[in-house]
Amino acid sequence: MQDGLKDQLEDLAICGGTPAFETPLHVGAPNIGDRDRLRERFDDIFDRRCLTNGGPYVQEFEERVAKIAGVPHCIATCNGTLALEIAIKALGLSGEVIVPSFTFVATAHALQWQEITPVFCDIDPDTFNIDPNRVAEMITPRTTGILGVHLWGRPCNTQMLVEVARERNLKLLYDASHAFGCTHRGRAIGSFGDAEVFSFHATKFINTIEGGAILTKNDELAEKARLMRNFGFVTYDNVTHVGTNGKMNELSAAMGLTSLDHMPHFIETNRANYWSYRKGLADIPGLSVISYDEREECNYQYVVVEVDEDEAGIDRDRIVQILAAERVLARRYFYPGCHRMEPYRSYFPHAGLLLPVTERQSGRIFSLPTGTAVGEEEIEKVCRIVATAVKHSDALGQRLDKRMIAGTTAGYRHRVA
Ligand SMILES: *Cc1c(COP(=O)(O)O)cnc(C)c1O
Repeated sequence: MQDGLKDQLEDLAICGGTPAFETPLHVGAPNIGDRDRLRERFDDIFDRRCLTNGGPYVQEFEERVAKIAGVPHCIATCNGTLALEIAIKALGLSGEVIVPSFTFVATAHALQWQEITPVFCDIDPDTFNIDPNRVAEMITPRTTGILGVHLWGRPCNTQMLVEVARERNLKLLYDASHAFGCTHRGRAIGSFGDAEVFSFHATKFINTIEGGAILTKNDELAEKARLMRNFGFVTYDNVTHVGTNGKMNELSAAMGLTSLDHMPHFIETNRANYWSYRKGLADIPGLSVISYDEREECNYQYVVVEVDEDEAGIDRDRIVQILAAERVLARRYFYPGCHRMEPYRSYFPHAGLLLPVTERQSGRIFSLPTGTAVGEEEIEKVCRIVATAVKHSDALGQRLDKRMIAGTTAGYRHRVA
């Protein structure tokens, strides 16, 4: 192994070789931006002694996000989950809401937290997004809304979803946590449905450390969400709604503004990384990288690989395990699906029967590290590891199976009942 690339089976760390990376490569390592500019903003915030409660930085952040999303209202929050919870409450959702299981668990939790039943709907195998053809089948007299997720920044079929929602008089909300800066049919994500929610968590493409936002064109809904974010206060002593504390603070907004200053650079880096991975993995049998519509704006924040075990001769979990030994912490986003997590697994033990595509696809995908923390050199190494693993899949399969029997890879086999 002269060039640090792992071409031989014995080079792999899982077979006793030295790990390819000294420090771990994470999915979602934060993008930071210009620290001097960030420090300037922090200093200004401390000089003003206004740390939160809708100060000038939060206002500026809201204005800039609203402009990018092409809507009049942005309500910035302390995180994306609270933004979802407030949007759900402000929209008056109750009873049951139709939602994909193939998402981060916060999408379902935001409903369950308010004792609204998330009714899990299967996904389209090509897009991995909620299958609009399945939505109508999930509607009952208790259904009040649809909560779509633009997974990995790839838009839902908004045309069909809006039709179902209109026809059946349902509210339509989107969890757009992955999709800031993306467009669909030339229109910015953030402007679809009754409202959309972004997350600006540190792992997301644009970050406020912790943060989120509700976007809407609806004046009344915006007003309600704004009040709910701040305990329902209209004026100092006048409360008109049940509320919570969902405010974004000024330091977070400063981080967000600094992040926004670098948005084109972050996109360019992600895009270059994405194509480096695409090239590096292109000739490996059984592996494909999910694609983005190049005619649209995309943030390329997720490099997601789909593994066809029959063709590759190795399954997704083994590849993730082999990468982990090299300190490449690929993630199974999203596995095993919300319906296999508590409390949903106990509430709806048979949900999987209606989710064949979710069950299948969640066993086939993994996400690779990208963002400004990763460059071409790292990506070349990662791709070579994966190529070597697939090339030697037979031999690896035997070795790893033996280890599994020896119990050294506990919790490693997927589909644990
Ligand atoms: C990150 C994320 C959330 C939650 O956002 P937080 O800001 O971490 O609360 C919700 N839904 C999806 C799909 C996410 O990826």
